Amino acid sequence: MRGDYSADVVIVGGGYTGLWAALRVRELEPASRIILLEADICGGGPSGRNGGFMDPWRVKYFAMKAIMGSEETIRAIRLSVRALDEIIDFCSEHEIDAQITRGGGLWVSSSHATENTWAPTVEALRSVGLGENYRDVSAEEVVELTGSSRYVGGVFDAERGKAQPALLARGLRRVALENGVEIFENSPVTRLERGSTPIVHTEGGRVRSSRVILAAGAWLGQLHELRNAIAVVGSDMIATERMPERLADLGDIDRLVISDSRMMVNYYRTTADGRLAWGFGGGSLDFGARIGENMHSISPRPAAVAASLEYHYPQLGLLKVRLSP
Ligand SMILES: Cc1cc2nc3c(=O)[nH]c(=O)nc-3n(C[C@H](O)[C@H](O)[C@H](O)COP(=O)(O)OP(=O)(O)OC[C@H]3O[C@@H](n4cnc5c(N)ncnc54)[C@H](O)[C@@H]3O)c2cc1C
Repeated sequence: MRGDYSADVVIVGGGYTGLWAALRVRELEPASRIILLEADICGGGPSGRNGGFMDPWRVKYFAMKAIMGSEETIRAIRLSVRALDEIIDFCSEHEIDAQITRGGGLWVSSSHATENTWAPTVEALRSVGLGENYRDVSAEEVVELTGSSRYVGGVFDAERGKAQPALLARGLRRVALENGVEIFENSPVTRLERGSTPIVHTEGGRVRSSRVILAAGAWLGQLHELRNAIAVVGSDMIATERMPERLADLGDIDRLVISDSRMMVNYYRTTADGRLAWGFGGGSLDFGARIGENMHSISPRPAAVAASLEYHYPQLGLLKVRLSP
């Protein structure tokens, strides 16, 4: 973006937060001028290239309760459950084919050290009436459902679903444009000038607006107010080549999303075009939220990511994996 603008609301970041915020502001204030500035393309960050798991916030119950207290946590979790339905309704209303399916998922453990770690959370959720979606499953059933003999236990969550994240982000962008949101891509914000009417600067441009929504995800750690509150940790994903026939032999994984109980979680699912998308948690750390190339390009540890998939599914005989930058 170049030149001088003024707006009623300026949004920094065109991921899910920024795009949903733009649409919500449009709904509340139909006549307002909304400008969204995105450094890359909308969805170019994690919103367009995440695991695609549609999960409400239930598993964050204890962490949220410690921060927000019980009542707010329960309210927020209920809203997050509703959000899943709302995403589906929104996509159908606006003809966004984000390849959403809702076949449930498993929370599994692949070692005895992490076995049953979900139990206190599930129990607490059940005690406050938020656990109706969980079903306890035996170790044998987990192996049967996942097709991996590495797992020693798990719990089934009927509510989980999956989406193609980039199609959702690009669909949101299209609807935002149709609703008069002015979107400038390839326009990194370089400075936020604070004041009663803040000014948001880009290289060669600026927007004056009394309201600024900061929706730049992990990049917000570059703001000094947030620097100590954000730790940027990478998570690498690989996608196999198309292999629908081989995936069909692996239990029920085409229907499910699966994540394990490690602190740096591993997660995976199949894609609509018959690949296995495998996420391997706990990669690079970028100190001071200076987000470098290691977070964007080909994984810096492809062998470790592929080995982890190979370990769980040796029967796939994965000689080749295609890395998804
Ligand atoms: C590998 C991976 C897998 C994940 N899997 C899942 C999952 O399966 N399910 C799930 O619910 N969540 C998952 N997440 C988390 C999820 O992707 C994020 O919570 C979500 O995308 C955050 O959306 P956001 O809009 O807040 O931020 P982002 O998507 O990070 O968007 C922020 C945007 O701000 C832009 N930006 C940055 N700096 C500037 C600047 N200076 N000026 C203008 N724009 C700027 C960026 O380019 C980016 O597009 C995953 C994340 C990763 C990284």
